This record gives sequence, structure tokens and C-alpha cells, in this order.
Amino acid sequence: MKYIPYGFQWIDENDIREVISVLKSDWITTGPKIQEFEDALCRYTGASHSVAVNSGTSALDISVQSLELPPSSEVITTPFTFVATSNSIIYNGLKPVFADICEDTRNIDPDSIRNKISERTKAIIYVDYAGQPCDIKEIKEIAEDFDLYLIEDASHAIGSEYENKKTGTFADMTIFSFHPVKHITTGEGGAVLTDNEELHEKLSMLRSHGIDKTTSERYGPDASWAYDMKYLGRNYRITDFQAALGISQLGKLDSYLDKRREIAGIYSELFADVPEITIPSVRKNLKHSWHLYTVLIDSRVHRDVFFGKMRANNIGVNLHYIPIYKFSYYQGKYGSIGELPVTEDVFKRIITLPLFPRMQYDDVLKVVETTKKLLSK
Ligand SMILES: *Cc1c(COP(=O)(O)O)cnc(C)c1O
Repeated sequence: MKYIPYGFQWIDENDIREVISVLKSDWITTGPKIQEFEDALCRYTGASHSVAVNSGTSALDISVQSLELPPSSEVITTPFTFVATSNSIIYNGLKPVFADICEDTRNIDPDSIRNKISERTKAIIYVDYAGQPCDIKEIKEIAEDFDLYLIEDASHAIGSEYENKKTGTFADMTIFSFHPVKHITTGEGGAVLTDNEELHEKLSMLRSHGIDKTTSERYGPDASWAYDMKYLGRNYRITDFQAALGISQLGKLDSYLDKRREIAGIYSELFADVPEITIPSVRKNLKHSWHLYTVLIDSRVHRDVFFGKMRANNIGVNLHYIPIYKFSYYQGKYGSIGELPVTEDVFKRIITLPLFPRMQYDDVLKVVETTKKLLSK
């Protein structure tokens, strides 16, 4: 019996051909494919600028760095995300402040954001959990009221829509991840999108040591040796063969999204009448991109026992996420920051079911049947 993972990439022969053709070309990094990938991301999302980097984590890091916030600043974010979201705040010498989430969407709760604002709050990083856009209108109002920057961690949400617009243009900066479990992959990779010309220029430098001239600008018979280093940047560059994979994958994103939406629809239909399961709800005015399909298990069922039995049946259930403030590094650095009640409750009951575009219908049905069977015991 084969193991069904919770997420998996889909690389086809065409993707492989594109990568090989770049490997045979003159430029395997800092070449023309990077710009081509960035242009394709802009065309897809409607954003004016994009900067492709070597991971979603790097994308978050340079986004926070580009804001040049004073050292004691606080950035409000969700604890119900991958650690990279809030680590990017700490990398930059700033303090993450966690707001609570909404039970139905697992997205950051705008009312809780308001409660966490202090004199030192300078920005909000919100995450479109599982691919469902946050309450962006409300978050933008808060940002305007308190003069805060907004970063959208859309690692789960490329291709999602809010009020008929794709993610990529709502916040000051939006970041994507191209890790293999995400919608499209470059192996490792990420990008920052922005409509702000000044931020774009800064992000481009921060990706490459904070240097103001690109390799191609310093190459060839007419080029000068001169360049300046304006910021303490790092090497966060993505390679051209990864960018080629990204372009090829992006061309298939809409078909991947169709498959994800179809599988999520099957789950929601077949679980609708199971009393021990609360299926994920989708708010109005948006289009979910279903990076994850998560359900809440009735508190009378022992979630961890159920989890173990699903794994023993070769179903790669997962848990997204352990609240970040529970990790020992965070406890050591900030002490006990006070548990957030909705986050705690959701964490105890949530489970992630397998979902990826190449998933076979038989496997979807196997997940449903095994879930029902184990819960009825
Ligand atoms: C995957 C992910 C990241 C980090 O992306 P990498 O490309 O793995 O560095 C950041 N935030 C969230 C919410 C993610 O799911």
C-alpha cells in the first residue's frame, strides 16, 4: 500500500527540457531567465515589479529589511504559520507580536490586531492561510488608521483572488514561496512583488549584497568596474535554471489550481455529513487556492490518536501549524507571551489532509473512507 503525502510537486518533461536548455546556455545564474520569470509573475498577478530570490524565507527577510524600521519596532503577525514568517522579523532586529486567529479561516483576526497595536507597531505581516486571502479590506483600514506597512505572506496563495483581484497587489509587498509543496516550484525559491518603485530598487539590491549594479550591467566591453554597496545585503539570488522551471510551472498554475479546487470540493462534499468533522469554510468575495485542506476534529475524538492511525494507514496527514510562540527558541527569547485562545483551540483539533494536483481520485476516496472508518470507531 503506497503512502499518500500531504503535498507533492508536479514536474513534467516540458519543465525538464526548459531547465536543461538553460544548463546548456551561457548564463546559469544572474542571466536573462530571472527577468523573464519576474515579468511572468507580474503579468500573472498584475503587480508592477517582482524580485525573484532563492527562497520564500529570503523574500520575507528582504521585505522586512527594505522597510528600514527603527530597532525597537514591533511587527504584528499570526502565530499560526510556518516559522519563517515571524523569523524574518527577528532577523532584522525587530519584535514579532502575535495576534489571534479566526476559527473558521485560521487567518489573523483583525480585531485581535487592533488589540495588539502599540506605540512601537510599524508593520503587519499577514498570511493567507491554506490559500484563503485574509480580511484584506479590514487589515488595510487598520494599516491606514495607524500608519503601518503591510507585507502579505502569500506563500500559500499564489493565484488566490480577493474581490476579483489576484494576490500580489494588496500589500506594500507580497511574497511567494516556490518550495515543492507549494503551488508551483523552483526546487527552492521565492519572490517579492510590489507596486512601489523605490522598494523594488531596494529589494533588487538586497538580493545581491546590497550592490547597486547587476552582473550584466558590469559585463562586457563598454562596462565600468565601478559599483557601490549601499545596504548590508546577502546573496539571496535564484539561478537561471530555477527561473526557467518557474516560468514553465507558472504556465500550468491555473490547471493546477483547477485540480486543487476540484479535490477540495470532493472532500467538502463527502465530509459534509460527518458529525466529527468541521470542513473549512470559505468567506465571500474571494477565490481560495487550496494549498492545504484542513479540518477541525470534534474535541471528543483524540486528534493525536486519529493522526497516528491515519499515518499507520499510509495517509500522510499533517499538522499546520504548531503555534510559533510554543517553540523553545521563542519561549527562551520572549518568555511565555500568553496563549491566544482561538489559536490554542484550533491547534488542538486541526489536521491537514493530503491535497496536491497530481493526486489520483482513488487516493482522494481512500482518504475519505479511511477518515470515516477511523472516526466511526
Ligand atoms: C513555505 C512558507 C514560507 C517559507 O518559504 P520557503 O520557500 O520554504 O523559504 C514562509 N511562509 C509560509 C506561510 C510558508 O508556508
